[in-house]
Formats: sequence, C-alpha cells, structure tokens
Amino acid sequence: MRPSLLDPLFASASALPGVGPKTGKLLDRLLGEPDRPARTLDLLLHLPLSGIDRRARPKVAEAPIGAVSTIKVRVTEHRPPRGKGPYRVLTEDETGDLTLIFFRANANWIEKLLPLGETRWVSGLVELFDAYRQMVHPDRILDEAGLAALPPVEPIYGLTEGLFPRVLAKAAAGALARLPQLPEWQDEKFFRATGWLSFGESLARLHHPQTPQDLAPEGKFFARLAYDELLSHQLSLRLVRAKAQVLRGRPQISDGALAKRILAALPFALTDDQAKAVAEISADLASDKRMLRLLQGDVGSGKTVVALLAMAHVIEAGRQAALMAPTEILARQHFATLKPLAEAAGLTIALMTGRDKAAERRATLEGLANGALDIVVGTHALVQEDVAFARLGLAAIDEQHRFGVHQRLALGEKGEAVDVLAMTATPIPRTLALAYFGDMELSSLREKPPGRQPIDTRAISVERIDEVVAGLARAIKTGARVYWVCPLVEGSEDSDLAAAQDRAEDLRKFFGAQVGLVHGQMKGRDKDAAMEDFSRGVTKVLVATTVIEVGVNVPEATIIVIEHAERFGLAQLHQLRGRVGRGSEKSSCVLLYAGPLGETARARLEILRETEDGFRIAEEDLRLRGEGEVLGARQSGAPGFKIARLDLHPDLLRAARDDAEKLLAADPDLTGERGRKLRLLLYLFERDTALRLLRAG
Ligand code: ADP
Ligand code: MG
Repeated sequence: MRPSLLDPLFASASALPGVGPKTGKLLDRLLGEPDRPARTLDLLLHLPLSGIDRRARPKVAEAPIGAVSTIKVRVTEHRPPRGKGPYRVLTEDETGDLTLIFFRANANWIEKLLPLGETRWVSGLVELFDAYRQMVHPDRILDEAGLAALPPVEPIYGLTEGLFPRVLAKAAAGALARLPQLPEWQDEKFFRATGWLSFGESLARLHHPQTPQDLAPEGKFFARLAYDELLSHQLSLRLVRAKAQVLRGRPQISDGALAKRILAALPFALTDDQAKAVAEISADLASDKRMLRLLQGDVGSGKTVVALLAMAHVIEAGRQAALMAPTEILARQHFATLKPLAEAAGLTIALMTGRDKAAERRATLEGLANGALDIVVGTHALVQEDVAFARLGLAAIDEQHRFGVHQRLALGEKGEAVDVLAMTATPIPRTLALAYFGDMELSSLREKPPGRQPIDTRAISVERIDEVVAGLARAIKTGARVYWVCPLVEGSEDSDLAAAQDRAEDLRKFFGAQVGLVHGQMKGRDKDAAMEDFSRGVTKVLVATTVIEVGVNVPEATIIVIEHAERFGLAQLHQLRGRVGRGSEKSSCVLLYAGPLGETARARLEILRETEDGFRIAEEDLRLRGEGEVLGARQSGAPGFKIARLDLHPDLLRAARDDAEKLLAADPDLTGERGRKLRLLLYLFERDTALRLLRAG
C-alpha cells in the first residue's frame, strides 16, 4: 500500500486551489492519461522548459534592444488608433521615450492600466522601430505592489491550447504547497558530495527559478531529479530481474555436438563476433540463471545463425526452441533459411503464422505439444492461447523492439524456465541499452561477415529524378535489381499507399511489367508473391512502402532508392539501406531528397554517406535527436523518462546503476533504513511492477 504521506500528490490536480473545472480539464489533457486525470504529482514533475529573465531594470535609454527589460516609466500621452493602426501609449523616464503598442486592444482597458501622468512598471521585449524604442504588448504592466510580486525569472512550461502560462504557473505553485516533507533517500555521503538540494527544494527551485541558469538541464536542480528518476528505474529493473531469475533458473547442458553438425553444414565459418556471441549465450544457457540476453548486430551481421546455434544448444539439452519474428515475410524467410540447416542436423522444424491452413496448423500444434517438433518459427501467432509446448527451453525474438512487452513475455511464459534471446538490428547506444535494459546481458556483432562490399551512398535532389531513372534503366539491363522505397506520408497509411501506387505506375512507364509493388495493406499471400517475384528476378524493380524495412533478404538486390529521404529517421534509413549490400556485388543507395534541407536532415544524410557502422549511426542519432525519439513510440515497453536526458546525463545513469547494484546487494527487499525511504521514490516515479514484487516477496 502506498504510504499515506504521499496521498496529496496522487490527488487530482483539479482539487488544487485556484484550479476550476475548465483549467482542470485542460490540465487533464496536458498531463493526464486516458484512464486517469492529471494529478498533483504530474504538475510537480511537469518542469519548465526555460525561463524569461525579468530581473533587468534599466533606464529607457539603456534598455538593450531585442531583450526583455522591466522599466519604470511615466505615462505622457494616449494615442487611440486612427483607422486600422494600433493603440499607442507614449511613456518616458529621465533618459528617453518608450512607446507602448497595442493591436486590437480595448481602449478602456488600456486607460485603466496606464493612467495618464502616473508611473508604472512595464516588462517586455524592447525593440527599435524607426529609431524609436517601443514595446509591443508588454507582458506585464505593474504598479509598485505588482512589481514586488514579479518573479525574477518567469518559468516557461509546455502548454496545451487554451491553457495560459500564468494559470499553469499558479497551479504548479499550488502543487508545490501540497508537497509533504519527505525523508532524504539518497546515500548521505554521495548526496553531500554532489551539493544537491532535497527532492522538494529542487522542485521548488525549478518552479520558482531565481536565475535562468537554475533551469539548465545540466544544472544541479535538474540533475538531482534526473538522478532520482534514473535510480528509481534502475532499482525497479533490478528488482524485476532478480525475482525473475530466482523463480525461473534451470541449466541447459549440451556438449555442442549438434552445433558442430550445423557448423559443418554452413558454407562459411563464423566471424569472431559470432563465435563470441555463441559462447556467451551457451554459458547463459548452461547456468542456473534465466537468460535474458539481447543480441544486437547491424543488418547483415549474421544474427540468424547465432540464434540457430542457441536453439541447437537447448534442443541438445532436451528442450524445444521458438523463433518469433514481427512480420510474416520475415518469419517465412527465417524458416526458409533455417529449414535446410536444421534438417541437415537431424532436427524437426515447422512454421506457424496467422495464415496456416487448419490442417497444417493442427499438425504443428500437435508436434509442439507432444514434443515431436524441435523448432518452430513464426509470427506472433506463436503466442496465441492454444499454442502449447511440451518443453520449451528457448524463446528467440527477432527485432524485439517491434513487439510489445506483453508479447515478448508471453512467448517466454509458454514453458518453464525459458531462456530468452532478444535480437535487434537497431543497435542501441550503450547509454540507452543501460538505461532501458538495465543489466540485461548484451552481445554485439560489430564485425560484418567477410566479402561485403561497401555501399555507395549518395544524396541527390529529387529534381534530378529523371537522371536517376535513366541510371536504373542502364543498371537493370546489366541484371541489377532495385528497391524503390516510397516516402512516409504524413497522416495515414492510406497516403503511404497512394504514394507507392503512384510511383509504381510512373516506373511502369519505363520498365513495364518488371515493376512490382509491395505495401503494408496487401494481403499476406500477395505480399509474399510480390517478394517472391522480386527474389526470383521476375520483377526487377520493387516499389515498396517501409514494409521492407525489417530483415528482408534478397542478395541480388544491389540498388535502393529512398524517396523523400529527409522524412526518415537516421536509424530507419540505415535499416533500409541494409536491404542492399547483402551479396558479393557492389551496391548503391540513392537518397532522394526534396530541398531545402533543414540542418538536422542535412546532418542525417551526411552521416549516412560517411559510415555504415550501425553502432556509430545509433550514437549520432542519439546526439541529433535526443533520447526520447531514438527508440520512438515503437519501442514499446521502454520507459519514457520525464526528467532524465540520457544525452546530457550519462554519468548520472552510470552512478544510478552502481548505486542500485550496491544497494540491492545489501538490501534486496528494500527493508533497510535507506531501502524503506527508497520505496517512496519508487512510488513517486510509479515503478509499480517493482513495488508489486516487493509486496509479494
Ligand atoms: P541479420 O543479422 O541481419 O539477421 P542474417 O542472419 O540474415 O543477418 O545474415 C545475413 C547474411 O549473411 C545471410 O545470407 C547469412 O547466411 C550470411 N552470413 C551470416 N554469417 C556469415 C559468416 N560468418 N560468413 C559469411 N556469411 C555469413
Ligand atoms: Mg535478421
């Protein structure tokens, strides 16, 4: 149960003084969730993005142009508008004149605010117009009492339409007043060394900044709260993990005989990175801890074989293995790759997707349930309720970020003590991997299999599309195969589709029936047929929406054209480019862009031209976009941080990780003195799963 000390923070924000029903609704829209209103806590953690410094109090003549000043002036003349012009109020001090300008303003209101002959403080942006100093719509017009209440720095919050800054600031102030006295949960020595303030004081300082620097994300007030957030996350990751391991360990022993047979059937030798990953996985499988390992490796780095060898290991230990892929195309392709290798080693393997005929499906279900099948490859059809395994030992999940947490967990729960191997071709920068997966083990394939040719990448303006098409015509004559990726269209899948259909039509004017089309709304069978035609060379140009992004393997394809490349993210462009350069022929990638390019878009295309190293691209992506977007909405299950920014706070992350590790080693159930205080932190950052486990334990 949540300690009652925290109750005020979980009360609805609408109950705060000064928040009426209208503001309450706006706050819900800004900070609530579909199933719960905005709470006091949400307001507290909704921190300002920046601040307006209102401390400068210059004389009129000294007010810097283009900056915000707060100036004491005497009102000398009112000039109501003639025709459509603005209302002007002339003011002065002993050093000069300042004209206040109001567009479409109510004359009575202005006369009341700025009575003739009186002095007032005006605060706002000072500009120069025809050599006259002016202030258009002062932000504040105050008398002496008003000035005394003016905050030195006015916080700027993220807003929603209809919610005014001052209303939100007032609500935030009300929320601060509800913050209870909380004990300090940070390690005493560490805390003193940092010079941080308490949780409450840090929040107060951010909502009532004294200088604009107070609001710097690198500054100590933000840092304190970012650390709190990171620590709560690290603690919860470790708590969840520790419980999972205790519950589910079982060693899987193999002497590698099966793996040897598979290796002998392979037309190539493993790269050093592959061999290392296999060794790491085997050690995990053999240990009595439950494996939770992420295998990351760029497109084409050869993750599939590694997964197969892991499967061989568990099968030799007497268990079954499942490989789940996010799309039908990919599942079929994996099956086609694995089948001959598995069969060469004497293993039984089946495919399961949402499209199997009833009889096929029944046979597969039976084979899995009675243990006759060693391996099943499939889509999320594998986690349907009626799928049962005799003795599942390994759940391998390809492109794991494409699945929701539930689906990922569900496959692992189809057996007892199931080891999990997650795979991703979207390399995650180290800092992110740490943050999102905690101490989930990581194996990386950095080295590409030998014999790969570099991909010639060029950015070309869409104005030169005719030249590009002419170039394709020449290449196709010499046997090349081409992917043509259509842009993401803002708004809907329908518009994506329309763009692809139009482009296919266009290209058919040049290449006739050699042009195929594949998109996300096609029926599975049609999609396969289109891929199949392309793979066999019946079609030479495959126009596609981004459905080809993940994992598709046609080694003969050597050219990829990406239309409106500026609309894609860096990681996605890299994934798309990875569709070519899979065979021994030289490949090229044409990034068609529509200018003018923004700075970030230009940087993205530049990086792609420079490197093919997915790990480096991931780091650059993080630098260009910040952490929130790198994993994107698709990375479901990844916690979004409200405060911490991994691009700015990597040392805090490392510190939080070490802190959590040490703490839990000494106090695994958070029952010690600091542990009990840290439970408050877990509540504040709503690490509910961890809290549930603590309760159960
Ligand atoms: P990904 O990591 O993108 O899933 P794949 O497993 O599909 O990569 O492998 C890409 C291609 O590289 C496949 O054709 C595979 O057979 C080949 N391959 C994998 N490992 C090696 C290796 N050690 N040497 C040569 N080719 C390899
Ligand atoms: Mg793959």
